[in-house]
Amino acid sequence: MLPIIATPKYEMIVPSTGESITYRPYVVKEEKILLIALETQDDIQIEKSVTDIIKQCVESPLNINDLTTFDIEMIFITLRSKSVGEGVKLIMKCEVEDCDGSEDVFLELDKITVSNLEESKENKSIKINDDISIDMRWLKTNDRLNQAQRKTGTDTIINSAAKCIETIYSGEETFATKDAPHKEVVAFVESLNSDQFAKILEFMQASPALSYDLVYKCKTCGHENEKELRGLSDFFT
Ligand SMILES: [Zn+2]
Repeated sequence: MLPIIATPKYEMIVPSTGESITYRPYVVKEEKILLIALETQDDIQIEKSVTDIIKQCVESPLNINDLTTFDIEMIFITLRSKSVGEGVKLIMKCEVEDCDGSEDVFLELDKITVSNLEESKENKSIKINDDISIDMRWLKTNDRLNQAQRKTGTDTIINSAAKCIETIYSGEETFATKDAPHKEVVAFVESLNSDQFAKILEFMQASPALSYDLVYKCKTCGHENEKELRGLSDFFT
């Protein structure tokens, strides 16, 4: 038998739960899965390859379906920073209109954080009217919409909003939406007025996300660019 390279082990915290997990860095066979998926430029393929890599590399028991989008992204970035090195080079365009300058910017993967985590937790309860209030939760991997649920952009938003409602309180009664048919939760969302619906959208838009403040000076025009990267796709463009 030829020798096999021993990989070190590390620990990290799952952002949404605070739980500690053990992982090994990803190696060439996993990098290959990612590169093949990136070539397809298909979001579903890329997401699938990311979850596959996490399944391979995380050694603690972990239910991928229960993880939030930002958990998946943070775990992946952490694996990546321990695997391919702690930095990634991005080519960023100057944000000044009419300037065609672009700069190589070095991104330190270990400085990426999850933004809005605490604020979002504190704002998960929404008052709909005097009788009804709801508790929201963050989108999980498992909530990925099937084809029938994303006929149009509006259907997608309404269905995602329905997935994000965890509990409905009506007078003395409490309804856990996981025990109700999805179409009834969708009907609940569709019965809201636009102000009430806007509060749900606000929670969803303010959900935690990977965040990194990039500052780079354009050599062409001298402008100091400041840009917040949010979400995994921003880190791979
Ligand atoms: Zn410029």
